[in-house]
Amino acid sequence: MQERGSDLICEIAIELEEVLSETEKFVDFKKAVECDKCGGTGAEPGTNLINCPSCGGSGFVRSTRRTVFGNMVKTHTCSKCNGRGKIITSMCKTCSGEGRIKKDCRVSVKVPAGIPSGSRLKVKGQGEAGFRGGPAGDLYVDVYVKSHPFFGLNGNDVTCDFAINFGQAALGMTTEIPTLDGTEKLKIPAGVQSGMMFTLRGKGLPYLNSRRRGNQLVRIQVATPTKLSTAQRELFERLAEGNGENIGIRKRIIS
Ligand SMILES: [Zn+2]
Ligand SMILES: [Zn+2]
Repeated sequence: MQERGSDLICEIAIELEEVLSETEKFVDFKKAVECDKCGGTGAEPGTNLINCPSCGGSGFVRSTRRTVFGNMVKTHTCSKCNGRGKIITSMCKTCSGEGRIKKDCRVSVKVPAGIPSGSRLKVKGQGEAGFRGGPAGDLYVDVYVKSHPFFGLNGNDVTCDFAINFGQAALGMTTEIPTLDGTEKLKIPAGVQSGMMFTLRGKGLPYLNSRRRGNQLVRIQVATPTKLSTAQRELFERLAEGNGENIGIRKRIIS
């Protein structure tokens, strides 16, 4: 009776930057493997296995039942030896007769570019060892994308907030915006308002199995100063004396 080994599920977390291209990751986990001391038989080396007295070494027992159609013969797995046909006289001390031991394992997995967080990858044959030469189970790896201190995600679009001061907002500026792969120039027009969005084309995450990439969405935040020097205070006082147009206050809000 060959029995397939169990499937295993592991989790790994990858950085947002690692979604840009295929990356190799290592998964560490424990799994049952064939005991190398007894070669998976479960018997202490040098001791004998004897034929199971219940089934005579076949691993199967037959029972005959009388029915109206005649005698029915049913074959089933011997419960005494679990179908192994042999009885262990002395258990292997390493695996206590199970034939398998738990071992620390490390497997490398290729994580494809553009993988969505929460995707499950299958690594064939890397699950637990089978019993009596049965096939090994499979390993499933759940891949999660870590949250980033600066970037957010909206599908395959990368989002970020970019803070500028009143003066920069009023006058406009050209600046370098950090992206997942380097920086990118962005021209912010004069009179930009807090909350306005700008798009950096093709700077988002790639789509799985595609060369296409999402965009990076930059949301402008006009930062209000909380600490002013005497000189700054004088400048702001002069701006505050204006009719409101100068600093972009919308008339319909105050009237
Ligand atoms: Zn063993
Ligand atoms: Zn038996």
